[in-house]
Amino acid sequence: MRSPDWTWDELLLICSRVVNNDWAQLRTYQQPTHDLAELLRSLPLHGDAARDVPEFRSAASISRKSADLITSRHDYVGPATRGGRLTKLVTEAFVEREAEMLLAAQAIEDGIASGELHLIPEQPDEVDENGVPAAEGRLLTRWATFRERSPALRKRKIAQARRLGQPLQCSVCAFHFGERYGRLGEGYIEVHHVHPLHLSGPRETKLEDLAFLCANCHRMCHRVHGGASWRTPAALRAELENAVQRDGAA
Ligand SMILES: [Zn+2]
Ligand SMILES: [Zn+2]
Repeated sequence: MRSPDWTWDELLLICSRVVNNDWAQLRTYQQPTHDLAELLRSLPLHGDAARDVPEFRSAASISRKSADLITSRHDYVGPATRGGRLTKLVTEAFVEREAEMLLAAQAIEDGIASGELHLIPEQPDEVDENGVPAAEGRLLTRWATFRERSPALRKRKIAQARRLGQPLQCSVCAFHFGERYGRLGEGYIEVHHVHPLHLSGPRETKLEDLAFLCANCHRMCHRVHGGASWRTPAALRAELENAVQRDGAA
């Protein structure tokens, strides 16, 4: 078995170290490169078999990959190394949205350090229909969907709405499970984080951070599409209005 291909999440972590190193190559003899190797080997992405491959996420392989990331910058002068498409995309993302990408890398590191990310099973919304992850990567998508599926959180949000006399309906399309399905649907609604985990960081969720959505709108908010796996209810409403207008014009 050879080392598995690099994933977005791993390149994200390497590139954040490269950025913090002023876009200089990570060297095999440097201790931080060995620390990063240990971190990458511990990620819940490739299964246990990969860890038996001697070269798997070694300091040397990370050093080479950091060179790939650097030379795939559009403004890099000098001979390019062979990095591949994903490497180029990660570099571009860091050049265009450095602050956001650094936050995403930090969130993954926090989730690994606390042990939380190791406990979460793979989630259905991590990759698109072609197996491509969103820009925020698989681990943060996994974490975000898992967190908002917390039954306790949902229960508290529903109790709050009842206290305030607010209907349990979708904040995008106004679908109401109880009205549609009668007693079977009564009290059912899904909750969605208004702030994406990769931007907010893994802080405690407040009830104001949550919005009610029906199952369809919720799925569309998390569909991996156009490089993103997360949308606000307002963004989805805008998509819906655009679609209605396009239909009307046709
Ligand atoms: Zn809806
Ligand atoms: Zn959601």
